[in-house]
Amino acid sequence: MSTDYKEMWNDLGLNIDAHDGLLAVLTNAYKDIYLSQKNRPSAMGYFDFVISEVHGLRIEELIKAKELGKKVIGTFCIFVPEELILAVDGVCIGLCSGAEVGSDSAETHIPRNTCALIKSFIGFKMSGLCPYVETTDLIVGETTCDGKKKAYEAFGKITGKVYVMEVPHKKDDADKLLWKQEIRQFAEKLQAVASKDITVEKLRQAVRVVNEKRLALQRLSNLRANDPAPISGLDALLINQISFFDDPVRFTAKLNELCDELELRVKAATGVAPKGAPRVMIAGSPMAIPNWKLHAVIEGSGAVVVGEEACVGERNYRTLLDETFDTVSQALDMIAERYLTIDCACFTPNDDRLDNIKIMAEKLRADGIIHYALLFCTIYMMESYKVGNSLKEHDIPFLRIETDYSLEDMGQLKTRVEAFLEMIKGV
Ligand code: SF4
Ligand code: SF4
Repeated sequence: MSTDYKEMWNDLGLNIDAHDGLLAVLTNAYKDIYLSQKNRPSAMGYFDFVISEVHGLRIEELIKAKELGKKVIGTFCIFVPEELILAVDGVCIGLCSGAEVGSDSAETHIPRNTCALIKSFIGFKMSGLCPYVETTDLIVGETTCDGKKKAYEAFGKITGKVYVMEVPHKKDDADKLLWKQEIRQFAEKLQAVASKDITVEKLRQAVRVVNEKRLALQRLSNLRANDPAPISGLDALLINQISFFDDPVRFTAKLNELCDELELRVKAATGVAPKGAPRVMIAGSPMAIPNWKLHAVIEGSGAVVVGEEACVGERNYRTLLDETFDTVSQALDMIAERYLTIDCACFTPNDDRLDNIKIMAEKLRADGIIHYALLFCTIYMMESYKVGNSLKEHDIPFLRIETDYSLEDMGQLKTRVEAFLEMIKGV
């Protein structure tokens, strides 16, 4: 980190000693996993910088934005429309956490058998380690999985600033109506928090910004279809993770610069792995920063990860939002419709997801799919069986993995992944 941010962290109420320890661990992990990669695109320099300043410069930017009257809105799920937050001049920050931190403190509020993602965001807050949570004016939860739904009750008590949106679990007419109402209520809540009106012009601008970001992420995804792959799965995952907290306009510009470079690499047949290296796609639970474990195992075993069918991945940017609205009311309906296309495993039935996985695997020319579920993430663990059976019908190699944030099972994961790669090579 380029500057000493201790005073800022102190003002935010962080536990400075514990926070120093966390940053030291993260810096080392980043060096080992990311900076040791060979033949990275030079435009990754920006994203390395963002990570190096993740608790520094970006937090300083948020504090400055607040001084200018902007509100910082924290979210945990891609169901919370960023467009609405931008339309009240707010800043949208993804708060999901991907490190095993503060589990003991978290377990004073939630059971041990809770998925690592939930334990982590509660653990971070309880241990005084997350400057993002401290900077937010409002934290938006949602009723997707049962774990999160109940965890928000505890988190609301701890932070005093949680608002929960009700996400239906089916997509029938009554569910669509409920969701449209939820979107309207959320728009009202944001207007009240920010003391600003949502106008058509503001919405148009916001929709354009978020669509541009989605288009850049789609561009990156399409480039990964090339063999040799011009960028590692680790780097692409990192970019997707950063998309949840960086300034969206700057992020899009930097990602497009990277994609320009990747296009040149494709022309020159420059890859991060040799042509013909096994190509693996990952499907399942979200991988919040700094959860790089599975990608590191797969790419450390000689394969390349070519896509993530996940919320930190394709599910987040697959569908653009229609920009052809004339009134705020029309726009809110279009937002509701767009977000209800998300194929999260919290829905029943969720057969669109099976089709989307196959379409994506074909587009990316994946040789095999690893379904990744966080331990105790019941919805993705359950759905992995349907996914496996459906891929079997299409003779697509499939491996099911359930794991958490701990590094204890790295050896076991490596053995299973290597056996899977051997099988792929033999197909
Ligand atoms: S997996 Fe479901 S609950 Fe989790 S972020 Fe994605 S849409 Fe939201
Ligand atoms: S990973 Fe699964 S269990 Fe955990 S918060 Fe997300 S959807 Fe819920």
